[in-house]
Amino acid sequence: MVGVGFDHVTKRFGQVVALQDVHFQVEGGELFFLLGPSGCGKTTLLRILAGFYAPDSGRLFFGERDVTAVPAHRRQTGMVFQSYALWPHMTVADNVAFGLRQKKLPRSVIRERLDEALISVRMEQYAHRKPNELSGGQQQRVALARAMVIRPRCLLLDEPLSNLDAQLRNEMRLEIRRLCKEHQLTTVYVTHDQKEALSIADRIAVFSRGRVEQIGTPIEIYKMPRNRFVAQFVGESNFVEGRVLGSEDDKWAVETILGILVGTGDATIAAGDRVYLSLRPEAIRLRGESVDRNCLAGQLVGVTYFGEVAHYDFLCHGTRLKVSELNPRHLHHRSDETIYANIRPEDVLLLKT
Ligand code: ATP
Repeated sequence: MVGVGFDHVTKRFGQVVALQDVHFQVEGGELFFLLGPSGCGKTTLLRILAGFYAPDSGRLFFGERDVTAVPAHRRQTGMVFQSYALWPHMTVADNVAFGLRQKKLPRSVIRERLDEALISVRMEQYAHRKPNELSGGQQQRVALARAMVIRPRCLLLDEPLSNLDAQLRNEMRLEIRRLCKEHQLTTVYVTHDQKEALSIADRIAVFSRGRVEQIGTPIEIYKMPRNRFVAQFVGESNFVEGRVLGSEDDKWAVETILGILVGTGDATIAAGDRVYLSLRPEAIRLRGESVDRNCLAGQLVGVTYFGEVAHYDFLCHGTRLKVSELNPRHLHHRSDETIYANIRPEDVLLLKT
Protein backbone atom coordinates (compact mmCIF):
# COMPACT_ATOMS: atom_id res chain seq x y z
CA MET A 1 0.00 0.00 0.00
CA VAL A 2 2.02 2.92 -1.30
CA GLY A 3 0.96 6.55 -1.83
CA VAL A 4 1.43 8.50 -5.05
CA GLY A 5 2.86 12.02 -5.21
CA PHE A 6 2.64 14.47 -8.10
CA ASP A 7 5.34 17.09 -7.65
CA HIS A 8 4.64 20.19 -9.82
CA VAL A 9 3.83 18.15 -12.94
CA THR A 10 3.39 20.00 -16.26
CA LYS A 11 2.66 18.40 -19.63
CA ARG A 12 2.24 20.07 -23.02
CA PHE A 13 1.20 18.70 -26.40
CA GLY A 14 2.50 21.32 -28.86
CA GLN A 15 0.69 24.55 -27.96
CA VAL A 16 -1.81 22.76 -25.67
CA VAL A 17 -0.98 22.81 -21.98
CA ALA A 18 -2.67 19.57 -20.88
CA LEU A 19 -1.44 19.81 -17.24
CA GLN A 20 -0.12 22.84 -15.43
CA ASP A 21 1.85 22.58 -12.20
CA VAL A 22 -0.17 19.70 -10.75
CA HIS A 23 0.91 19.11 -7.17
CA PHE A 24 -0.80 16.76 -4.73
CA GLN A 25 -0.53 13.49 -2.85
CA VAL A 26 -2.72 10.37 -2.99
CA GLU A 27 -2.49 8.44 0.28
CA GLY A 28 -1.76 4.70 0.38
CA GLY A 29 -5.02 2.71 0.16
CA GLU A 30 -7.02 5.75 -0.88
CA LEU A 31 -9.75 5.69 -3.54
CA PHE A 32 -8.93 8.99 -5.23
CA PHE A 33 -10.90 10.54 -8.10
CA LEU A 34 -9.78 12.85 -10.89
CA LEU A 35 -12.98 14.66 -11.87
CA GLY A 36 -13.47 17.26 -14.55
CA PRO A 37 -14.98 18.07 -17.95
CA SER A 38 -13.74 16.63 -21.23
CA GLY A 39 -10.25 17.82 -22.16
CA CYS A 40 -9.24 19.02 -18.66
CA GLY A 41 -6.22 16.68 -18.48
CA LYS A 42 -7.48 13.73 -16.38
CA THR A 43 -6.42 10.98 -18.77
CA THR A 44 -3.08 12.65 -19.38
CA LEU A 45 -2.37 12.57 -15.63
CA LEU A 46 -3.39 8.90 -15.43
CA ARG A 47 -1.11 8.10 -18.36
CA ILE A 48 1.78 9.88 -16.68
CA LEU A 49 1.10 7.75 -13.61
CA ALA A 50 1.12 4.57 -15.71
CA GLY A 51 4.33 5.64 -17.45
CA PHE A 52 2.80 6.00 -20.95
CA TYR A 53 3.73 9.73 -21.01
CA ALA A 54 6.65 11.52 -19.39
CA PRO A 55 5.97 14.94 -17.83
CA ASP A 56 7.72 17.97 -19.40
CA SER A 57 8.60 19.11 -15.91
CA GLY A 58 7.91 17.91 -12.39
CA ARG A 59 8.30 14.52 -10.76
CA LEU A 60 6.23 11.51 -9.80
CA PHE A 61 6.69 9.55 -6.58
CA PHE A 62 5.51 6.12 -5.42
CA GLY A 63 5.96 6.48 -1.69
CA GLU A 64 9.42 7.99 -1.19
CA ARG A 65 10.70 6.71 -4.53
CA ASP A 66 11.05 8.99 -7.57
CA VAL A 67 9.58 6.93 -10.43
CA THR A 68 9.53 9.68 -13.09
CA ALA A 69 12.07 7.86 -15.24
CA VAL A 70 10.87 4.30 -14.48
CA PRO A 71 9.38 2.70 -17.64
CA ALA A 72 5.71 1.64 -17.68
CA HIS A 73 6.36 -2.11 -17.42
CA ARG A 74 8.41 -1.63 -14.23
CA ARG A 75 5.87 0.49 -12.38
CA GLN A 76 3.54 -2.32 -11.33
CA THR A 77 0.39 -0.39 -12.04
CA GLY A 78 -2.82 -2.17 -13.07
CA MET A 79 -4.99 -0.28 -15.52
CA VAL A 80 -8.65 -0.68 -16.49
CA PHE A 81 -9.58 1.10 -19.71
CA GLN A 82 -12.94 2.46 -20.79
CA SER A 83 -13.14 -0.25 -23.47
CA TYR A 84 -11.83 -2.95 -21.03
CA ALA A 85 -9.32 -4.02 -23.76
CA LEU A 86 -9.76 -7.74 -23.06
CA TRP A 87 -8.12 -10.13 -25.51
CA PRO A 88 -11.02 -11.51 -27.55
CA HIS A 89 -9.36 -14.84 -28.43
CA MET A 90 -8.53 -15.70 -24.81
CA THR A 91 -10.82 -17.12 -22.15
CA VAL A 92 -11.63 -15.19 -19.00
CA ALA A 93 -9.07 -17.27 -17.09
CA ASP A 94 -6.33 -16.65 -19.67
CA ASN A 95 -7.09 -12.92 -19.76
CA VAL A 96 -6.81 -12.68 -15.98
CA ALA A 97 -3.73 -14.93 -15.70
CA PHE A 98 -1.86 -13.18 -18.52
CA GLY A 99 0.05 -10.74 -16.29
CA LEU A 100 1.03 -13.55 -13.90
CA ARG A 101 2.37 -15.70 -16.74
CA GLN A 102 4.40 -12.73 -18.03
CA LYS A 103 6.03 -12.62 -14.63
CA LYS A 104 6.88 -16.31 -14.99
CA LEU A 105 5.43 -17.18 -11.59
CA PRO A 106 5.17 -20.90 -10.65
CA ARG A 107 2.03 -22.64 -11.96
CA SER A 108 0.66 -23.33 -8.50
CA VAL A 109 0.93 -19.64 -7.56
CA ILE A 110 -0.76 -18.60 -10.82
CA ARG A 111 -3.61 -21.05 -10.18
CA GLU A 112 -4.07 -19.83 -6.62
CA ARG A 113 -4.03 -16.12 -7.50
CA LEU A 114 -6.29 -16.63 -10.51
CA ASP A 115 -8.91 -18.45 -8.42
CA GLU A 116 -8.70 -15.79 -5.75
CA ALA A 117 -9.11 -12.97 -8.32
CA LEU A 118 -12.07 -14.63 -10.06
CA ILE A 119 -13.81 -15.28 -6.75
CA SER A 120 -13.22 -11.73 -5.62
CA VAL A 121 -15.01 -10.30 -8.71
CA ARG A 122 -17.59 -13.14 -8.57
CA MET A 123 -16.67 -14.54 -11.99
CA GLU A 124 -15.44 -18.00 -11.03
CA GLN A 125 -18.23 -19.72 -13.00
CA TYR A 126 -17.25 -17.92 -16.19
CA ALA A 127 -13.55 -18.81 -16.29
CA HIS A 128 -13.82 -20.72 -19.60
CA ARG A 129 -15.90 -18.22 -21.51
CA LYS A 130 -14.59 -15.79 -24.12
CA PRO A 131 -15.21 -12.03 -23.67
CA ASN A 132 -17.87 -11.96 -26.44
CA GLU A 133 -19.92 -14.45 -24.38
CA LEU A 134 -20.12 -12.02 -21.45
CA SER A 135 -22.31 -9.02 -20.63
CA GLY A 136 -20.77 -5.54 -20.32
CA GLY A 137 -20.77 -5.76 -16.52
CA GLN A 138 -19.10 -9.18 -16.58
CA GLN A 139 -16.41 -7.94 -18.99
CA GLN A 140 -15.83 -5.05 -16.66
CA ARG A 141 -15.29 -7.44 -13.74
CA VAL A 142 -12.79 -9.45 -15.78
CA ALA A 143 -10.88 -6.27 -16.64
CA LEU A 144 -10.80 -5.41 -12.94
CA ALA A 145 -9.61 -8.90 -11.98
CA ARG A 146 -6.90 -8.73 -14.63
CA ALA A 147 -5.64 -5.41 -13.28
CA MET A 148 -5.81 -6.50 -9.64
CA VAL A 149 -4.35 -9.99 -9.92
CA ILE A 150 -0.81 -8.68 -10.41
CA ARG A 151 -1.13 -6.97 -6.99
CA PRO A 152 -0.47 -3.54 -8.43
CA ARG A 153 1.11 -0.80 -6.35
CA CYS A 154 -1.52 1.45 -7.82
CA LEU A 155 -4.80 0.62 -9.60
CA LEU A 156 -5.69 3.04 -12.41
CA LEU A 157 -9.26 3.25 -13.67
CA ASP A 158 -10.12 5.32 -16.76
CA GLU A 159 -13.90 5.84 -16.98
CA PRO A 160 -14.39 2.13 -16.28
CA LEU A 161 -18.19 2.28 -16.11
CA SER A 162 -18.98 4.41 -19.13
CA ASN A 163 -20.12 1.48 -21.29
CA LEU A 164 -22.65 0.20 -18.77
CA ASP A 165 -26.31 1.05 -18.33
CA ALA A 166 -27.39 3.22 -15.39
CA GLN A 167 -28.42 0.42 -13.03
CA LEU A 168 -25.31 -1.67 -13.62
CA ARG A 169 -23.18 1.45 -13.17
CA ASN A 170 -24.66 1.97 -9.72
CA GLU A 171 -23.98 -1.63 -8.74
CA MET A 172 -20.46 -1.69 -10.14
CA ARG A 173 -19.52 1.54 -8.37
CA LEU A 174 -20.09 -0.09 -5.01
CA GLU A 175 -18.37 -3.23 -6.19
CA ILE A 176 -15.26 -1.27 -7.18
CA ARG A 177 -15.16 0.42 -3.80
CA ARG A 178 -15.56 -2.91 -2.03
CA LEU A 179 -12.68 -4.45 -4.02
CA CYS A 180 -10.36 -1.48 -3.53
CA LYS A 181 -10.94 -1.42 0.21
CA GLU A 182 -10.81 -5.20 0.65
CA HIS A 183 -7.42 -5.33 -1.12
CA GLN A 184 -6.26 -1.98 0.34
CA LEU A 185 -5.42 -0.72 -3.13
CA THR A 186 -4.22 2.79 -3.83
CA THR A 187 -6.62 3.65 -6.63
CA VAL A 188 -6.77 6.60 -9.02
CA TYR A 189 -10.08 6.78 -10.84
CA VAL A 190 -10.80 9.12 -13.77
CA THR A 191 -14.34 10.24 -14.51
CA HIS A 192 -16.40 13.20 -15.68
CA ASP A 193 -19.42 11.80 -13.80
CA GLN A 194 -19.81 13.72 -10.55
CA LYS A 195 -22.27 11.17 -9.08
CA GLU A 196 -19.73 8.39 -9.56
CA ALA A 197 -17.11 10.46 -7.76
CA LEU A 198 -19.35 11.74 -4.95
CA SER A 199 -20.78 8.31 -4.19
CA ILE A 200 -17.59 6.26 -3.69
CA ALA A 201 -14.51 8.50 -3.49
CA ASP A 202 -12.42 8.99 -0.38
CA ARG A 203 -11.22 12.25 -1.94
CA ILE A 204 -11.71 14.04 -5.24
CA ALA A 205 -9.48 16.40 -7.24
CA VAL A 206 -11.60 18.64 -9.47
CA PHE A 207 -9.73 19.66 -12.62
CA SER A 208 -10.31 22.44 -15.10
CA ARG A 209 -8.06 23.23 -18.06
CA GLY A 210 -5.10 21.28 -16.77
CA ARG A 211 -5.20 22.72 -13.25
CA VAL A 212 -6.45 21.39 -9.93
CA GLU A 213 -9.31 23.62 -8.78
CA GLN A 214 -9.96 21.88 -5.47
CA ILE A 215 -9.13 18.69 -3.57
CA GLY A 216 -11.39 17.40 -0.82
CA THR A 217 -13.75 14.74 0.43
CA PRO A 218 -17.06 14.45 -1.45
CA ILE A 219 -18.86 16.45 1.22
CA GLU A 220 -16.20 19.19 1.26
CA ILE A 221 -16.33 19.51 -2.52
CA TYR A 222 -20.13 19.63 -2.59
CA LYS A 223 -20.78 21.74 0.49
CA MET A 224 -17.74 24.02 0.36
CA PRO A 225 -16.78 24.50 -3.28
CA ARG A 226 -13.83 26.86 -3.53
CA ASN A 227 -15.06 28.70 -6.60
CA ARG A 228 -17.86 28.99 -9.10
CA PHE A 229 -16.39 26.39 -11.44
CA VAL A 230 -16.44 23.68 -8.74
CA ALA A 231 -19.91 24.67 -7.51
CA GLN A 232 -21.24 24.50 -11.06
CA PHE A 233 -19.48 21.32 -12.13
CA VAL A 234 -20.29 19.31 -9.00
CA GLY A 235 -24.05 19.38 -8.54
CA GLU A 236 -26.40 22.16 -9.56
CA SER A 237 -26.46 25.65 -8.17
CA ASN A 238 -28.04 29.08 -8.59
CA PHE A 239 -25.55 31.95 -8.79
CA VAL A 240 -26.41 35.50 -7.80
CA GLU A 241 -23.89 38.35 -8.02
CA GLY A 242 -23.50 40.71 -5.11
CA ARG A 243 -21.35 43.07 -3.04
CA VAL A 244 -20.35 42.32 0.54
CA LEU A 245 -21.74 44.92 2.95
CA GLY A 246 -20.23 43.65 6.19
CA SER A 247 -20.27 40.84 8.73
CA GLU A 248 -23.00 39.88 11.17
CA ASP A 249 -21.83 37.40 13.83
CA ASP A 250 -19.77 35.00 11.71
CA LYS A 251 -21.92 35.54 8.60
CA TRP A 252 -21.76 38.10 5.78
CA ALA A 253 -24.50 40.44 4.54
CA VAL A 254 -24.46 40.75 0.76
CA GLU A 255 -26.38 43.22 -1.39
CA THR A 256 -27.81 41.53 -4.48
CA ILE A 257 -30.45 42.13 -7.13
CA LEU A 258 -32.75 39.94 -5.00
CA GLY A 259 -32.22 42.10 -1.88
CA ILE A 260 -29.84 41.62 1.04
CA LEU A 261 -28.91 37.98 1.69
CA VAL A 262 -26.89 36.69 4.62
CA GLY A 263 -24.37 33.96 3.83
CA THR A 264 -21.20 32.11 4.73
CA GLY A 265 -17.72 32.79 3.38
CA ASP A 266 -14.12 31.94 4.18
CA ALA A 267 -11.50 34.12 5.87
CA THR A 268 -10.47 35.81 2.61
CA ILE A 269 -13.82 37.66 2.26
CA ALA A 270 -13.91 41.36 3.17
CA ALA A 271 -16.49 44.15 3.07
CA GLY A 272 -16.67 45.70 -0.41
CA ASP A 273 -15.74 42.43 -2.25
CA ARG A 274 -17.72 41.46 -5.32
CA VAL A 275 -18.88 37.87 -4.91
CA TYR A 276 -21.11 35.21 -6.36
CA LEU A 277 -23.62 33.65 -4.01
CA SER A 278 -24.14 29.96 -4.64
CA LEU A 279 -27.58 28.65 -3.63
CA ARG A 280 -28.17 24.92 -4.10
CA PRO A 281 -31.72 24.17 -5.36
CA GLU A 282 -32.35 21.63 -2.60
CA ALA A 283 -31.38 24.15 0.10
CA ILE A 284 -34.18 26.56 -0.87
CA ARG A 285 -37.56 26.09 0.85
CA LEU A 286 -40.82 27.37 -0.60
CA ARG A 287 -43.29 28.84 1.90
CA GLY A 288 -46.70 30.47 1.87
CA GLU A 289 -45.60 33.17 4.31
CA SER A 290 -42.63 35.43 4.76
CA VAL A 291 -39.96 34.87 7.42
CA ASP A 292 -37.55 37.57 8.56
CA ARG A 293 -34.15 36.45 7.21
CA ASN A 294 -33.09 35.41 3.70
CA CYS A 295 -36.66 35.35 2.46
CA LEU A 296 -37.38 36.16 -1.17
CA ALA A 297 -40.78 37.03 -2.58
CA GLY A 298 -41.59 35.83 -6.11
CA GLN A 299 -43.76 33.68 -8.33
CA LEU A 300 -43.62 30.08 -9.45
CA VAL A 301 -43.23 30.00 -13.21
CA GLY A 302 -42.45 26.32 -13.73
CA VAL A 303 -43.19 23.01 -11.99
CA THR A 304 -41.89 19.55 -12.96
CA TYR A 305 -42.80 16.48 -10.91
CA PHE A 306 -40.44 13.46 -10.92
CA GLY A 307 -42.00 11.36 -8.14
CA GLU A 308 -39.27 11.47 -5.51
CA VAL A 309 -38.54 15.13 -6.22
CA ALA A 310 -40.28 18.20 -7.64
CA HIS A 311 -38.37 20.90 -9.52
CA TYR A 312 -39.61 24.46 -9.48
CA ASP A 313 -38.64 27.64 -11.33
CA PHE A 314 -39.00 30.54 -8.95
CA LEU A 315 -38.91 34.07 -10.41
CA CYS A 316 -37.70 36.85 -8.14
CA HIS A 317 -36.91 40.39 -9.42
CA GLY A 318 -36.43 39.02 -12.94
CA THR A 319 -33.99 36.30 -11.77
CA ARG A 320 -34.98 32.65 -12.20
CA LEU A 321 -33.92 30.33 -9.37
CA LYS A 322 -34.10 26.55 -9.47
CA VAL A 323 -35.68 25.03 -6.39
CA SER A 324 -36.03 21.32 -5.68
CA GLU A 325 -38.14 19.64 -3.05
CA LEU A 326 -37.54 16.03 -2.07
CA ASN A 327 -40.47 13.75 -1.27
CA PRO A 328 -43.11 16.40 -2.05
CA ARG A 329 -46.39 15.77 -0.18
CA HIS A 330 -48.29 18.13 -2.43
CA LEU A 331 -47.23 20.26 -5.38
CA HIS A 332 -47.09 24.03 -5.47
CA HIS A 333 -48.65 25.17 -8.72
CA ARG A 334 -47.64 27.80 -11.26
CA SER A 335 -49.35 31.00 -10.29
CA ASP A 336 -49.07 34.80 -10.36
CA GLU A 337 -49.60 34.84 -6.61
CA THR A 338 -46.70 35.75 -4.38
CA ILE A 339 -44.88 32.85 -2.77
CA TYR A 340 -41.74 32.96 -0.60
CA ALA A 341 -38.42 31.20 -0.89
CA ASN A 342 -36.25 30.88 2.18
CA ILE A 343 -32.65 29.73 2.56
CA ARG A 344 -30.50 29.34 5.68
CA PRO A 345 -27.37 31.54 5.88
CA GLU A 346 -25.17 28.43 6.11
CA ASP A 347 -26.54 27.36 2.70
CA VAL A 348 -25.73 30.70 1.04
CA LEU A 349 -22.11 30.39 -0.01
CA LEU A 350 -19.96 33.42 -0.88
CA LEU A 351 -17.54 32.72 -3.74
CA LYS A 352 -14.97 35.19 -5.03
CA THR A 353 -15.61 36.37 -8.60
P1 ATP B 1 -11.82 13.24 -21.71
O1 ATP B 1 -12.71 13.21 -20.50
O2 ATP B 1 -12.51 13.78 -22.93
O3 ATP B 1 -11.08 11.95 -21.96
P2 ATP B 1 -9.51 14.40 -20.37
O4 ATP B 1 -9.83 15.28 -19.23
O5 ATP B 1 -9.07 13.02 -20.07
O6 ATP B 1 -10.69 14.39 -21.42
P3 ATP B 1 -7.00 14.62 -21.79
O7 ATP B 1 -7.26 13.44 -22.69
O8 ATP B 1 -6.03 14.42 -20.71
O9 ATP B 1 -8.37 15.17 -21.20
O10 ATP B 1 -6.55 15.86 -22.70
C1 ATP B 1 -6.11 17.10 -22.18
C2 ATP B 1 -5.76 18.03 -23.35
O11 ATP B 1 -4.61 17.54 -24.02
C3 ATP B 1 -6.85 18.14 -24.39
O12 ATP B 1 -6.87 19.45 -24.88
C4 ATP B 1 -6.40 17.16 -25.47
O13 ATP B 1 -6.88 17.56 -26.74
C5 ATP B 1 -4.89 17.27 -25.38
N1 ATP B 1 -4.22 15.99 -25.72
C6 ATP B 1 -4.33 14.82 -25.05
N2 ATP B 1 -3.56 13.87 -25.60
C7 ATP B 1 -2.95 14.44 -26.66
C8 ATP B 1 -2.03 13.97 -27.65
N3 ATP B 1 -1.57 12.71 -27.62
N4 ATP B 1 -1.63 14.84 -28.60
C9 ATP B 1 -2.08 16.12 -28.60
N5 ATP B 1 -2.94 16.63 -27.71
C10 ATP B 1 -3.38 15.80 -26.75
